[in-house]
Amino acid sequence: MHTEYFKVDPVKPDLEILAKAAAMLQQGRLVAFPTETVYGLGANGLNEQAVKAIFAAKGRPSDNPLILHIDAVDKLTTLAAHVPPNAAALIERYWPGPLTIVVKRQPIVPDVVTGGLDTVAIRLPSSLVARELIRLAGVPIAAPSANTSGRPSPTTAQAVLADIEGKIAAVIDAGSCDIGVESTVVDCTTPVPTLLRPGGITYEMLVEVLGEVEVDPTLAGAQAIPKSPGMKYTHYAPAAPLFLVESEPVTAARLIKREIDQALATGKTVGAIVSAELADSLPPEVRTAVYGRRGDATVIAANLYENLRSFDNAPVDVIYAEGLAEKGLGLAVMNRLRKAAGYRIIRE
Ligand code: AMP
Ligand code: MG
Repeated sequence: MHTEYFKVDPVKPDLEILAKAAAMLQQGRLVAFPTETVYGLGANGLNEQAVKAIFAAKGRPSDNPLILHIDAVDKLTTLAAHVPPNAAALIERYWPGPLTIVVKRQPIVPDVVTGGLDTVAIRLPSSLVARELIRLAGVPIAAPSANTSGRPSPTTAQAVLADIEGKIAAVIDAGSCDIGVESTVVDCTTPVPTLLRPGGITYEMLVEVLGEVEVDPTLAGAQAIPKSPGMKYTHYAPAAPLFLVESEPVTAARLIKREIDQALATGKTVGAIVSAELADSLPPEVRTAVYGRRGDATVIAANLYENLRSFDNAPVDVIYAEGLAEKGLGLAVMNRLRKAAGYRIIRE
């Protein structure tokens, strides 16, 4: 399949171009598009065949449900059977934005979207390009991240094409995504809402509105049956095995240098994803991706997936990543790094 490439301005997108892409979605074809979090792989969320094509293009397990994206709050009740007060409070404060809520679904939502669950995940993105595209398509858009399943999510159109060019009808390029990690997923069907996936809206921001938030035990590393089917799969992995070093900065620096020296001594080509502060003290032969300054979780989140992808074309035998504090966006970054590492964690 030929993949059409559409370029639009993120602030003043050409609506004629977006209308072409929207027409493709109406025809049941797949269109990758930018959001404020990562690039999504969109299909008409009410068209079972179109949604099935998403799973095929990504190689995604079919029991991992998808998020439906809408362009205005008033579309919510067409998909949600019930909007509890907690969900309404979150929506009021954080929509449009990088927040997905899980609520009871309406019968109109196909099983293929929800993996057969009686709940549905819904988001109203803040990205203007995304919202205009959904508005022009006139249907909710099912959209997981536009990567091959298991790979780092794409934050540029080039990363989308590297993974799934030829498998989708079109990609809309509006430059890099602002936030760089996926939306926060909150289950609003539990008495106290449950954080299923940390993301662009931080835990602290949720507590501000809700007062109390449960955290799914799998996020704390406990062995439990994942509530959100997407939590049980390996995700975000670069081409080479990644080890995550989790300690406070001074110890982490010592551990990461020790590991790197050992790997170099055995003749391995070594990659590192580290803070600017640590980068300067690593041996020069290490292929280093700098994710930002230590403590600047917002910048680190924005760079994370491009850092993970930076080793695709500069192959290494092993990658070491420096962990960071789980405050603000740091929680989402650490969640992604642990999954990218397949839980290969180095601590003292
Ligand atoms: P992705 O589309 O890859 O960004 O992932 C969407 C995330 O939302 C996955 O972790 C899914 O498991 C989760 N999700 C989607 N629908 C539901 C639902 N009905 N209940 C719980 N989690 C969901
Ligand atoms: Mg994904």
